[in-house]
Amino acid sequence: MKALRLKSWKSQPILEDVAVPEPGPDEVVIQVGAAGACHSDLHLMHDFDAGALPWGPPFTLGHENAGWVHATGAGVRGLDRGAPVAVVGAWGCGTCAHCRDGLETYCERPDAAPVPGGGGGLGLDGGMAEYLLVPAARHLVPLPDGLDPVQAAPLTDAGLTPYHAVRRSASKLGPTATAVVIGVGGLGHLAVQVLRATSGARVVAVDLREGARDLAMQCGADLALAPGPDLVDEIRAFTGNVGADVVIDCVGSDETLATAAASARQLGDITIVGIAGGTLPLSFFALPYEASVQTTYWGNRRELVEVLDLAARGLLKAESTLYTLDDAAQAYRDLAHGTVTGRAVVVPTDSYQP
Ligand SMILES: [Zn+2]
Ligand SMILES: [Zn+2]
Repeated sequence: MKALRLKSWKSQPILEDVAVPEPGPDEVVIQVGAAGACHSDLHLMHDFDAGALPWGPPFTLGHENAGWVHATGAGVRGLDRGAPVAVVGAWGCGTCAHCRDGLETYCERPDAAPVPGGGGGLGLDGGMAEYLLVPAARHLVPLPDGLDPVQAAPLTDAGLTPYHAVRRSASKLGPTATAVVIGVGGLGHLAVQVLRATSGARVVAVDLREGARDLAMQCGADLALAPGPDLVDEIRAFTGNVGADVVIDCVGSDETLATAAASARQLGDITIVGIAGGTLPLSFFALPYEASVQTTYWGNRRELVEVLDLAARGLLKAESTLYTLDDAAQAYRDLAHGTVTGRAVVVPTDSYQP
C-alpha cells in the first residue's frame, strides 16, 4: 500500500510502498477514509533533532484519522468489518489512572505505552496510508449515523483539541461572558463552533487573514478582528472594558500571548493551544488578578464521543480542503503557505472496499 512517510528529522515526507499491516491480538486494522494534515506535522518536519522526543522517524504521518474496520486481531469483539470509526489519537498504556479515564494524552506510564507520549502518526505509523494499524480496540469510537470518515477525521484533533480547551473553562463561559479565539485555522474555526454549540458566550475571533475572519463569522463569531495596534482596545471595548473571560490562543506566539494577557479579564482563563513556541512573561503585575494560564493537549475519549455527536447533529462542521493520498505532500505545502481554508484532509479511499 502507499503511505506518506517521514523518513528522518528535518526532511520532507515521501510517498512510498509499504506492507499492509496485519492485526495482532487486541489490534485492529482500519481502512483509512480520511486523515487530517495538522500544523503540528510541519513542526515534525522542520523543528526537531534526534533525541529531542522519545520517538522518531521513520513513521507514516497522520494523527487525525477515521475510516472503516477492516481486520481485527484475536480477542477483539464488538467491531463489525466495514463499520465506520474514528480513531482516538493518543495511545497510552491503558491501565494508569489517566488512561482509565480515557485521558491517554496524559498517560503516566509512557514506558508501558506502544510509544512513549505518541501514537499513530506520532512515532508509530499514522493514517496517511491506505490502512492503519490501531494497537487496541479501545482507541476506536463508532461514528454516529450521518457522519462519514471525511467529516469525522478532522474532528479527532482539530475538533477535539479546542473542545477540551473550551470545556475546561465551561464554568467561565456563561451567557454574559466573552470568549476570544486567536487564530482561525483548522483548530480555531472549530473552537468558534464549539463555543457556539456549548456555551452562551459571545465570541470574538482574531486572524490576520481576511478569509479566515470571514470563516469565523460563518462559524458563528460575533466579531472578527485583525491584529494591529488597536486590537486589544477593540476586544476590551467589545467586553464593556472588563476584558475577555476566556482566551483560547490557537497560535501561541509571543505576539498572540501578549494580546491574550492584555485582553483577559480578572479571574479569566488564558489557554495556550497553539505550539508556535512563544513565551508569556509572568510576574505579580503581568496578568489581571487571578487570571489562570494553562496549556492543553488534545482531548479524551469521552470528549471525542461528544464532538462526534455534535457534528452528527450539524452543530460542528470541519471546513475541509480535500487531497488524494498522491497529493498529500501538496497538502502540507499548502498548509505551510497558509493557503488552506479550514482543515487540509487527505482521502486515501472514499468508500469501504472489503
Ligand atoms: Zn494535530
Ligand atoms: Zn497510561
